[in-house]
Amino acid sequence: MIGRPLEYRRVTLALAASTLLASLGATPVDALEPSPVAARIDAALAASQPQLIEWRRHLHRNPELGNREVETAKFVAERLRSFGLEPRTGVARTGVVAVIEGGRPGPVVALRADMDALPVSEEVDLPFASKATATWEGKTVGVMHACGHDTHVAMLLAAAQALVSVRKELPGKVVLAFQPAEENVPLAERPAGAELMLKEGVFDDPKVDVVFGLHVFAQLQSGTLGYRPGPLLAAADSFEILVQGRQTHGSKPWSGIDPIVVGSEIVMALQTVVSRTLDITHEPAVVTVGQFDAGVRNNIIPDRARLVGTIRTFDDGMRADIFARVRRIAEGVAAAHGATVRVEIEKGYPVTVNDPALARQMLPTLERAAPGQVRELQKVTGAEDFSFFANRVPGLFVMVGVTPSDQMATAASNHSPRFYVDETALPTGARALAQMTADYLFANALPSR
Ligand SMILES: [Zn+2]
Ligand SMILES: [Zn+2]
Repeated sequence: MIGRPLEYRRVTLALAASTLLASLGATPVDALEPSPVAARIDAALAASQPQLIEWRRHLHRNPELGNREVETAKFVAERLRSFGLEPRTGVARTGVVAVIEGGRPGPVVALRADMDALPVSEEVDLPFASKATATWEGKTVGVMHACGHDTHVAMLLAAAQALVSVRKELPGKVVLAFQPAEENVPLAERPAGAELMLKEGVFDDPKVDVVFGLHVFAQLQSGTLGYRPGPLLAAADSFEILVQGRQTHGSKPWSGIDPIVVGSEIVMALQTVVSRTLDITHEPAVVTVGQFDAGVRNNIIPDRARLVGTIRTFDDGMRADIFARVRRIAEGVAAAHGATVRVEIEKGYPVTVNDPALARQMLPTLERAAPGQVRELQKVTGAEDFSFFANRVPGLFVMVGVTPSDQMATAASNHSPRFYVDETALPTGARALAQMTADYLFANALPSR
């Protein structure tokens, strides 16, 4: 997941109370009371705080790339077994799933943590900084939890342990989904991650009613939780434009077709998609060319140029419209110069939408997990494959601030080699996960046995 926030505003409980409409679960509720086990969950979380930090540091020191989280999965499965659970491993290649069976009937909540790291060499000066390397696209690269998925795993383990401690009283079940490969994996390995977990039936038995997930976020102050009903994160799709010109000597451009000039014109023309053709009062959108490969030296005009980019949208109609326009612009500009193009658009992750009713229903719980520290977010143009889960069942994805207040102006963003997590924020995230689960289960418990 990547992205930058826009601005935040304080969420008031009054807003939630006036608009609460529980369309979910067996029993409609106006505002969720703390569950009867809330205090015991807090006590269990307080007791496990040193472990939470220890787990996070172990994972941070030992990051693994997507679909290669072998040791991470072993670590997770061992912890889950120590809690008395029976984890299933090898789910969606390297994922781990376990179910907490409550003592009474009720709904099913899924909690998701992604486990993969990025091909980034860590530059943060920490005693537990990563020195790991791996092979990525044929090159040896550093590996780092530069998106903070190490913290997601640690927070979900802590939440799971706390929920197990009150399992007898819990109405319903909790599916713990430790997911591999959230960050993009090579095409040959897709589908992967959340999409593959769903294909393998992770939400089918027991049948999941709602899903909660967290993401640490550098642009939020530590201690705060970021929340947004409706669309939160964008759909992310990638495109590749291969411009075929005709090679010639750099001193005689007239005897060839210069793909660098054609490619440059395509880059410039693509700028008009968002600025001139989309109704951006409806939803924001982004078209970025992030890679332009062409040529080998100053006096050779090459045969080919390759442009690679990303498309971010919050609306399916705009998404389809952009696909068509990118293709038409590339083909039209190329044709004007006698070049040809091949345009490939690869669909990535859908829009991450927080179910509005569920989000409002859980707001009081978030306020209890982070008193006075819940912020309503604007849309973020980053993307997440949590969207696949939230497309299957109502979902809520919450951002956890991890930047100390005095570093807000200078903090490196997620995916940076200098991405830094203030660990004092992690108990808040674990608390949000565990308390949202318990509050939801009790509020939607079946009335009688
Ligand atoms: Zn990421
Ligand atoms: Zn991420």
